[in-house]
Amino acid sequence: MTRRFSGDTLLVATHNRGKLEEIAALLAPFGISVVSAADKGLSEPAETEDSFIGNARIKAHAAAGAAKLPALADDSGLAVEALNGAPGVYSADWAETPQGRDFDLAMRRTWNALNRVNAPEPRRAQFCCTLVLAWPDGHDEVFEGRVDGRIVWPPRGSQGHGYDPMFLPDGYEHTFGEMDRWEKNRISHRAVAFEKLVTGCFA
Ligand code: IMP
Repeated sequence: MTRRFSGDTLLVATHNRGKLEEIAALLAPFGISVVSAADKGLSEPAETEDSFIGNARIKAHAAAGAAKLPALADDSGLAVEALNGAPGVYSADWAETPQGRDFDLAMRRTWNALNRVNAPEPRRAQFCCTLVLAWPDGHDEVFEGRVDGRIVWPPRGSQGHGYDPMFLPDGYEHTFGEMDRWEKNRISHRAVAFEKLVTGCFA
């Protein structure tokens, strides 16, 4: 039996404003407002697990325990089949440079890695998103979303973020980078996971 969220304010275990605003917009229709871990002065735990679920659990339980409130965390990334799931939980790390994150570099690294292993076409990949809603008593609910597709080169489109321009979802002619936000948000890994979360815990 899925535990439902019964409060009116949800703690979101993120220091990322963009993520907080996206989640706030999704939960507003249910009369739920959000507050971030940064607003509460909570520190960010180290993401030491090698799975999306493991890292989402770390973030959600750390925030729920520290604030004594239910907390929602997400972890996401691009898993490329011929690279055994890389960059996966390290998707953001592949973009790190001394000057900040560079996703043109991260996409090039991904493409170069595929060429090094002579990966045949189509180069299958999935965007994955795991959401964990954790309560201070240690209970949690987990929801996963994924969207399947393939890697294309050169990257196409300047909308979206991260690895969007090199990901062509199955059944579409446009990469995530060529889709407007509305179209991508209808079919994305995050949309799928959020729909499950809302149905399970909020609706
Ligand atoms: P997180 O914030 O630790 O979950 O890191 C997720 C990372 O995965 C982001 O920094 C992006 O590199 C990548 N990623 C996750 N979702 C998307 C997406 O929808 N489009 C493009 N890149 C994504």
